[in-house]
Amino acid sequence: MDKLYDLAIIGSGPAGMTAAIYAKRAGLDIILFEGSAPGGKLVKTFEIDNWPGQPNISGVDLAMKMYEHTTQLEVTTEYTAIVKIDVDKIKTLTSEDGRTFKTKAVILATGTVENKMEIPGEEAMIGKGVSFCAVCDGAFYKQKKVAVIGGGNSALEEAVYLTQFADEVTIVIRRDVFRGDVQAIERALANPKIKVIKKHIPYEVVHGNKVTALRIKSVNDGSIQDLEVDGIFPYIGATPSTGCLKDLGVTDSMGYMIVNDKMESKIPGLYGAGDVVVKPLRQIVTAVNDGAIAAQTAFHYIKEFDA
Ligand code: NDP
Repeated sequence: MDKLYDLAIIGSGPAGMTAAIYAKRAGLDIILFEGSAPGGKLVKTFEIDNWPGQPNISGVDLAMKMYEHTTQLEVTTEYTAIVKIDVDKIKTLTSEDGRTFKTKAVILATGTVENKMEIPGEEAMIGKGVSFCAVCDGAFYKQKKVAVIGGGNSALEEAVYLTQFADEVTIVIRRDVFRGDVQAIERALANPKIKVIKKHIPYEVVHGNKVTALRIKSVNDGSIQDLEVDGIFPYIGATPSTGCLKDLGVTDSMGYMIVNDKMESKIPGLYGAGDVVVKPLRQIVTAVNDGAIAAQTAFHYIKEFDA
């Protein structure tokens, strides 16, 4: 018979790792699932300046510290993605490799995946000039020209990061204002290697074996121009990773998980935490907040379950 865990946590970004730390310290028998690398979006972030107490910490370093903390607590971890959750009183998780796991409660902390531009040439050139991770691929663009698409915090921060390598970084935004924080905007605009093209949208990735240009279209008059670049970094928002919740009726029209202030979904014993839930502010501090609350709520649920 399958082992019955107290709590399964799906996703090991800041929300999932915090939930694991709190749950383990509360004495729960837990299992943590991770479909790729621990750390979530942290490991793709160059520098973090709003984690209280540690200004200018690198995303990879913060992820490693959190990961070491969970491993010190001997959290059982499975490196596989969960593709389905059956939500009877005892919940059954099915992994992508076809295994099943039984648990009394589940915290979903799977975060989001980067949106694609959905333009011709993009798919063919992913990994060959189109990249969704400046931290991973920036060094390939030494003394080259790159385009960053989007005007949110991710685009602004990664554009600044890319100036360490590239000679020229062009940020392309579709409105005439940025979406990111004032501080991030000021930092990007003060960088002499960064220029900005407003009111244009990506139209086509122009390429042979390599990317040669980003074709962009004016939102004012529809005119087309080619921006000669070697690399393209889209940072145009993200989509929640909630495929395993399909048909459970716990997500909104955008796919984000709906939870209350105790991180409870409408299904008893099923909780959400971090970027995957409906919330006004997606930050590391709000993700760890969610993880702690979800673990605490799950703890009380499991105590009643066992009573
Ligand atoms: P955002 O949703 O904040 O920004 C997305 C950007 O992409 C916007 O400028 C948007 O334009 C643009 N965009 C969306 N779709 C398209 C499209 N099809 N074509 C062209 N442009 C498009 O995403 P981020 O990933 O930047 O941030 C996500 C969350 O994470 C935010 O809450 C952000 O604050 C947070 N974050 C915080 C950080 C920090 O505090 N250090 C670092 C990174 C992220 P428009 O504005 O016109 O809609």
